[in-house]
Amino acid sequence: MSLPQPRSGILEITPYKAAAAGRAHPVRLNANENPLGCSPRAREAYVAAQDGIHRYPDGGATALRNAIAALHGMDAGRIVCGAGADELIALIIRAYAGAGDEVVHSAHGFIMYRLAAQAAGAAPVSAPEKDMRGDVETLLAAVSPRTKIMFVANPNNPTGSLLSADELKYLREKLPEHVLLVVDAAYAEYVAESDYGDGRALADATPNTVMLRTFSKVYGLAGLRIGWGYFPQAVADVINRVRGAFNTGVAAQMAGIAALADQDFVKKSCLFNHAERAALAEGLQKAGLKVYPSAANFLLADCGARAETIRDGLAARNILVMHAAGYGLPQCLRVSVGLPEENARLLAALKEI
Ligand SMILES: *Cc1c(COP(=O)(O)O)cnc(C)c1O
Repeated sequence: MSLPQPRSGILEITPYKAAAAGRAHPVRLNANENPLGCSPRAREAYVAAQDGIHRYPDGGATALRNAIAALHGMDAGRIVCGAGADELIALIIRAYAGAGDEVVHSAHGFIMYRLAAQAAGAAPVSAPEKDMRGDVETLLAAVSPRTKIMFVANPNNPTGSLLSADELKYLREKLPEHVLLVVDAAYAEYVAESDYGDGRALADATPNTVMLRTFSKVYGLAGLRIGWGYFPQAVADVINRVRGAFNTGVAAQMAGIAALADQDFVKKSCLFNHAERAALAEGLQKAGLKVYPSAANFLLADCGARAETIRDGLAARNILVMHAAGYGLPQCLRVSVGLPEENARLLAALKEI
């Protein structure tokens, strides 16, 4: 038989499965979306985009990159946009790693690093964490001559843990020059800790560090698939060669620009998150669960042997949370911070279960 065969390793990938919603309008606490929605200005821009959807988008997303650059004080030429940060993760791996190469991530790091490495034929290498937190020494110890990329999600999903700016700087200093360090700051806006580093300073100071950001989390535009990276110029030039010529759509670009212009919405969302996250953590603890400290818009709860039972019990009540088994944490559930009434429903359901 000589039917078409995928490249070796592809069939070893476990496809990513988001929790299936069995019923209409579930309480979605499983995907770290913004429960407040998005800025009304982004919605208006999305609707206004309809007049242009018969045209190809600006493949270079120039206006969006200029808006990002203006807000953050960056060089727009070093920004590349993608169909979510996920696409940029895949593009970076495809461009810099392949068969025989290694991609390092922390043990409970964001799952896309592993999936995208496998898809490119590279080997994901997992570095043990200490106390559910990425550890710079084990990350460095996981590096071999075959390592091409190291991913650090900061804050990390699903643990919510943080590395400080100093730890990131130390990591970069000790990493071999040929290893591309990717700091994935998908939740950066939510972070209140003053010693936090989103990777931006390193992306400016070194030729081998990248920062990734997204419109899917605090900006509330997950459905539009729009993210961006801030790259050293030479790396941006590489990613622009491998990305699709029109990898971000018209509506996504326009809504993104409008969302950036509404920083009040971002502030409001962060304030809301901090208050509700604290209340939710307290409620989960009162329910007898161990809750890890989180800098983002979700909490990781240790449910011991009952994680799956609780997940299923919640799903039966139309409340979705994420079981972190795929992240090597079968005892844990990740719960996104929802609206007060959603969090209350979750806590009430936990009592019943
Ligand atoms: C959600 C998330 C992303 C990517 O989100 P996109 O929707 O693809 O932009 C990237 N990294 C981490 C750590 C995330 O949690």
